[in-house]
Amino acid sequence: SVPAAGTWNKEELLEKDRERLWHHISPHNPNPVIAVAGEGSWITDIDGNRFLDGMSGLWCVNVGHGREEIAEAAAEQMKTLAFFPLNQSHVPAIRLADKIVEWLGGDYRIFFSNSGSDANEVAFKIARQYHNQNGEPTRHKFISRHRAYHGNSMGALGATGQANRKIKYEPLGTGFQHVPPPYCYRCPFGKAYGECSIDCARIYEDVINWEGAETIAGVILEPVITGGGVIVPPPEYLSKVREICDKYGVLLIVDEVICGFGRSGKRFGHQNYGVEPDIVTMAKGITSAYSPLSATAVRAGLYESFKEQGKDNHFRHVNTFGGNPVSCAVALKNIEIIEEEKLVERAEYLGMQLEHKLNALLECPNVGDIRTFGFMAGIEMVESKQTKQPAAPAKVAQVLAECKKRGLMIGKNSDTVPQYENVLTLSPPFVTTDKELDFIVATLKEAFATLLIKSS
Ligand code: PMP
Repeated sequence: SVPAAGTWNKEELLEKDRERLWHHISPHNPNPVIAVAGEGSWITDIDGNRFLDGMSGLWCVNVGHGREEIAEAAAEQMKTLAFFPLNQSHVPAIRLADKIVEWLGGDYRIFFSNSGSDANEVAFKIARQYHNQNGEPTRHKFISRHRAYHGNSMGALGATGQANRKIKYEPLGTGFQHVPPPYCYRCPFGKAYGECSIDCARIYEDVINWEGAETIAGVILEPVITGGGVIVPPPEYLSKVREICDKYGVLLIVDEVICGFGRSGKRFGHQNYGVEPDIVTMAKGITSAYSPLSATAVRAGLYESFKEQGKDNHFRHVNTFGGNPVSCAVALKNIEIIEEEKLVERAEYLGMQLEHKLNALLECPNVGDIRTFGFMAGIEMVESKQTKQPAAPAKVAQVLAECKKRGLMIGKNSDTVPQYENVLTLSPPFVTTDKELDFIVATLKEAFATLLIKSS
């Protein structure tokens, strides 16, 4: 419920915000939206304005805001058992691990942490240790992609393929090689889909050979690059990468931090491509962000080399809050809601609707490409459809601002070169109604129309 007007003194809060709070990622915004409540797909700010949360926060509040049953599950668990470490065990962690394995549909072992970055760090450490204990100690490098984001910590940032997030913090975790993204709209190999040999997948084989296969521990990728601009690979890409990994004994780590838990229209993004990863990392949608939690799922076969009793081969990694009972209880309730309300199916349906409805935007001279994957979309803005020159940052900012004015919050990609931060992103909650979807598309149309008024 929305707190009554007058609950806060806005000016005082804003002053404290300016003096005390360090905002994430962006320069300090002196006039931030101060959110005070959320319900379904909407959030309400301190002035009582309502916004449709077109990004589900940060691609995460998948079951929508204001779910009392999740709050109750958290309160119940806090009262029963708020904390116990996972060098032993507790019931919510056991149940959740079992549920995740059911959702993955394979034989996996689950390691819990707090954030997507943590989950990826765990994946890197497990992959290195696995090779080390498996007679291949020189395998330590990872291959990831330019434009991808894998997290903020030194290893996960090393894997990240957006230089502007890394410069000033280097040296990062070492041993991360990058390959070009599978980006058909601006093919890094200058080819067109249908007339190419999926060079974006074949390049992995070249890099593995150039670096020496005996030095490569793993490949990490998202099923589609999300925050880097909703870059959807050709359909055969992931299975080709899987084949190459198999050929060279390289582990395939799939980062499902955004794509997991229904966002892709299936339970996990990789299930759209029929591949079985060696390691799957997940966060965000695991709790719909009601409580911090992440997980690293490791193929049971890999776990074998960590479990032999009497050998000094266990995984020497702990994090205090990882897999705490409250977050696990929240995740279990979140997944129960997704199952009971058939929200994966709903996300798939909404995604198809969104793809269809967004097509109308292609008429706008500044829309170069629209890419969708499950219930997410990227709208790539250009100056000209012919030259594909990225739209000027002011134009991207204008569409974002015009949407916000009309009560719709959407996002934009991040990239190394600000000029290429020209992809608007959408990732609304799965409880978005058909009417709300129409509102999103109509608002985008209006926002794009303002570009025409300005430039004529
Ligand atoms: N991987 C991907 C694909 C992500 O989008 C993110 C966060 N946006 C992360 C990892 C890192 O997650 P966190 O912010 O929870 O550390």
